[in-house]
Amino acid sequence: MRLKTTAFIVFLAAVAVALWCPLAWASSGDRHPEFRQCVSTCVANDCSNGNNLPWNLRLLGWDCPENCDYKCSEWHTKKCMAEGKPVMQYHGMWWLIRIGGFQEIASMWFSIGNFGAHAFGFYYYRKNVDGSYRLRGLWLGYSVVSMNAWVWSTVFHARHFTFTERMDYFSASFALFYSVFATMIRIFPLQRKHLEVPLAALFVEMYVAYVLFLSLSPTFDYGLNMKVCCGLGVVYMLLWICESVRTRQLRGYFIWLYAFFIAILAGMSLELYDFSPYYGLFDAHSLWHAWTIPVSCFLYKFAVGDAKAALREKGGDGVYLPLLSEKVLLKNQ
Ligand SMILES: [Zn+2]
Repeated sequence: MRLKTTAFIVFLAAVAVALWCPLAWASSGDRHPEFRQCVSTCVANDCSNGNNLPWNLRLLGWDCPENCDYKCSEWHTKKCMAEGKPVMQYHGMWWLIRIGGFQEIASMWFSIGNFGAHAFGFYYYRKNVDGSYRLRGLWLGYSVVSMNAWVWSTVFHARHFTFTERMDYFSASFALFYSVFATMIRIFPLQRKHLEVPLAALFVEMYVAYVLFLSLSPTFDYGLNMKVCCGLGVVYMLLWICESVRTRQLRGYFIWLYAFFIAILAGMSLELYDFSPYYGLFDAHSLWHAWTIPVSCFLYKFAVGDAKAALREKGGDGVYLPLLSEKVLLKNQ
């Protein structure tokens, strides 16, 4: 018990350190001499008399040097465009029009759209799947962890702080860990119910180890975080592909799952092919968030079809469909 408490305190302390250590992004734009000169002049002229920013910027946590950074990235981007030069990134991001103090308006609104898609999915699944289905709670849990992830995505895109960034990353990865766990529960034979709790414990431990490792590293390892998330995504897809092959039945609702996978893979090209923003508003990342709004609904169509099939085939308790060979054996008995 004492060991568990100590481990929990270490975990919380590590997360707290990770949440507050400064963002350490650097890009060609913020290393450019013209940009640096602009920032130092702005800070010298504007910031000597304290933080005299408009109330809405102060409310959203802007300070004078950070505001100078924003104003200079805007000036430098427009200068590059006027001179026909390629625009640059500043601290890992393109310059985007700031509206009302909010930093990434398009990504922020599309994150809210994704939250809405999962809230609708929660309602749609709850309405269409009978309460007797054993995995109903597991799927509704998926909606909840997804909604949580999109709340933090909205907050992060509204305003970049170390805290909001880490919450965005850790919530998104939590949704991925949960998805793989829920898929395993769905796919593994339910006759082995006693394995569900150890499996849940294993996933909790893996998630805690992942958060601890990233949190205790001297600098946040963005590459590792990306690898973990991509790895979980690949495992998730492989599990479902194996399941559809295993059952050896062409069930109509699986089309929604494959449509989901194809659409996600297609949309990920937006993340890989990063381009400068359109109209100072729509960067590749925001379009990726826009893309996932309708795509999320495919998964709920599949989930409802899967639950209805399970209720039809197993009278409400089962999801596990035996292998074809097992069916033959059962028939011959
Ligand atoms: Zn995002």
